[in-house]
Amino acid sequence: MKECDVVIIGGGPAGLAAAAAARKNGVEDILILERDSRLGGILNQCIHNGFGLHTFKEELTGPEYAARYIREVLDMKIPYRLNSMVVDINDKKQVTVINREEGLEVIQAKAIILAMGCRERPRGALNTPGYRPAGIYTAGTAQRLMNIEGYMVGKEVVILGSGDIGLIMARRLTLEGAKVKVVAELMPYSGGLKRNIVQCLDDYGIPLKLSHTVTNIEGKERITGLTLAEVGPDRKPVPGTEEHYDCDTLLLSCGLIPENELSRSMGIDMNPVTSGPMVNDRLQTGLPGVFACGNVLHVHDLVDYVSEEATKAGENAAKYVLGHEAQAIHTVTLKGENGVRYTVPQTLSPEAMEDLLTVRFRVADIYKNRSIVVSFDGKEVQRIPKRIMAPGEMEQVILQKKKLAEFPDLKEIVIRTEEEA
Ligand SMILES: Cc1cc2nc3c(=O)[nH]c(=O)nc-3n(C[C@H](O)[C@H](O)[C@H](O)COP(=O)(O)OP(=O)(O)OC[C@H]3O[C@@H](n4cnc5c(N)ncnc54)[C@H](O)[C@@H]3O)c2cc1C
Repeated sequence: MKECDVVIIGGGPAGLAAAAAARKNGVEDILILERDSRLGGILNQCIHNGFGLHTFKEELTGPEYAARYIREVLDMKIPYRLNSMVVDINDKKQVTVINREEGLEVIQAKAIILAMGCRERPRGALNTPGYRPAGIYTAGTAQRLMNIEGYMVGKEVVILGSGDIGLIMARRLTLEGAKVKVVAELMPYSGGLKRNIVQCLDDYGIPLKLSHTVTNIEGKERITGLTLAEVGPDRKPVPGTEEHYDCDTLLLSCGLIPENELSRSMGIDMNPVTSGPMVNDRLQTGLPGVFACGNVLHVHDLVDYVSEEATKAGENAAKYVLGHEAQAIHTVTLKGENGVRYTVPQTLSPEAMEDLLTVRFRVADIYKNRSIVVSFDGKEVQRIPKRIMAPGEMEQVILQKKKLAEFPDLKEIVIRTEEEA
């Protein structure tokens, strides 16, 4: 059986940044396994700009952003295999990978970094009524068809869901000459970034209908039209609010699901809210030596945070392999409450953690003039006033190791939102 110190599953921005960090931290023997025919992950199809503002202080396109990390991996001569699908990982860290040239191979890893990204929620998971005509795509599939394969997906378009991919595709389709009639969102708020609503809808006069859903799809061969209706607080259609739209295309942008079939089959503990693995402050899952980062861990809004997080995963995998891990003596649980849906990580070790730890989370609703409050075993230690918070944007707090040292028996850190007095 081939052996390898660090095996990275996925050659997207997370896998690339993790690989570079593991090498910089002293690991020579690294292998990136990527099922696609090129490195770069989802960024290859994101030809719009807006990437890298935090990391490079520049506005790059997705492929330009990915190219910077691909260049680093190539310069460091980190081995990678393309067209190589990982089909199984077991709890002994044996990775089964398949490709056309080498067939099926099992690789024994000392450490594994899970960086498989996420996929879109398909129509089947949405329960939209009607036949199954052509012309219904997830927004990411339409993006791939247009930006990589060079096909125009339709002329008269309705978009269901206001996730970032749907918003970006509304602009992309408009620029290519299609008429995007409306973006309908089930929730009373958008799931996308504010900047995308302004730049992709408002700037092109595309209406966003919040608290609306598709109640009927017409057409047998190809979609010919659909019905939108308003939904009440129970998210059920309100009778009498139906509106008809002629269209030949419906794009679905209704959420992303981390790709964790491999993680689940390894027996890793999962977080039901993020649908990603539970991790500690070193981004290590419950299985020692298995780390997770990027969209497979939780769906990120900006790729800059993916790269930052993946760099930490790579550094920690290197420490694990080289036996340089700091010893964790006791475990503190992190918990989100009162509007904070989850935290990543979910646990930390005050002894093993770095001087500063970034904890990321999303809120459950749009909140105006609230504070993020951090408590250590019920005692408030940090309060950050926020003018506005929205589910589409990730939030973060930074914990200091020296502050934790003031609480030697600490058991639980709670992060919550509180209305300003
Ligand atoms: C349409 C769209 C628009 C976006 N716009 C922006 C933006 O404007 N600005 C911004 O900052 N961010 C944006 N993002 C977010 C950003 O692209 C992601 O945060 C980032 O790509 C996530 O990186 P990742 O490496 O975790 O996942 P991915 O990029 O998805 O990479 C995961 C990789 O793992 C591979 N893989 C999965 N399973 C296996 C397996 N079993 N075996 C082998 N390989 C496997 C996949 O093929 C893929 O290459 C956008 C995302 C999308 C989808």
